[in-house]
Amino acid sequence: MTIQIEQFNCRSDNFGILLHHVESGLTALIDAPEEAAIMAAIERTGWAPSMILTTHHHTDHVEANPALKRRFGLEIIAPAKEADRIPGVDRTVKEGDVIDFSGEPIRVIETPGHTAGHVSYYLPGPGIVFTADTLFAMGCGRLFECPPTTMYDSLGKLAALPPQTIVYCGHEYTLANARFAATIDPTNEALAERLERVERMRENGQATLPTTIGDELATNPYLRCGDAAIRLNLGMQQASDAEVFAEIRKRKDNF
Ligand code: ZN
Ligand code: FE
Repeated sequence: MTIQIEQFNCRSDNFGILLHHVESGLTALIDAPEEAAIMAAIERTGWAPSMILTTHHHTDHVEANPALKRRFGLEIIAPAKEADRIPGVDRTVKEGDVIDFSGEPIRVIETPGHTAGHVSYYLPGPGIVFTADTLFAMGCGRLFECPPTTMYDSLGKLAALPPQTIVYCGHEYTLANARFAATIDPTNEALAERLERVERMRENGQATLPTTIGDELATNPYLRCGDAAIRLNLGMQQASDAEVFAEIRKRKDNF
């Protein structure tokens, strides 16, 4: 079975994503940030979507739900915990649910933190995860509805996926994340190299996503709260990993 993905820019810094099953032609959207950009991607690929996999209720992820439902009659799948805040939901999902994508399983992983009901969608077959506003390249989502420990636990679930897993995120925040990460983890050579690479990519107008779980384990400070150099830099050698996480997240909010 072959899975293809079309990632494209929406709004100011969101990504739209089309997930396509080649043999069956079945296509899903991951979130629906902007009708015009999504329609352009559908015309470019010829992939008409029959479902939307919603990650969370924020407007920049669900705004095009009603318009796309009118156009395609598609099924809108959304996290049960915030379905009442998402337009046009047909089916709700929770931790451990499996969506059948033309024989390819898509597993629902609850990843609350950014919002209380945020979910990620994981395809164990090809090894792809859609983390939206939970895990970003060298970053994580802002904590709007949950305490830091909730996000810390969610990131732990994603970090435990196989390192070669390909990660698609909700936003192009990579460069700002990398610049902040370098202040938290200044002696990390992999991070310094990645920051340079990302600067070049952005100068050339390239998307910096997808990433992989392995690259994030090496460079994302929120996944490295146990790292001795980070703890030393923060003066938090005795703190718990969750406390280190909370401190890094707080510093980012004020960066
Ligand atoms: Zn969001
Ligand atoms: Fe967002």
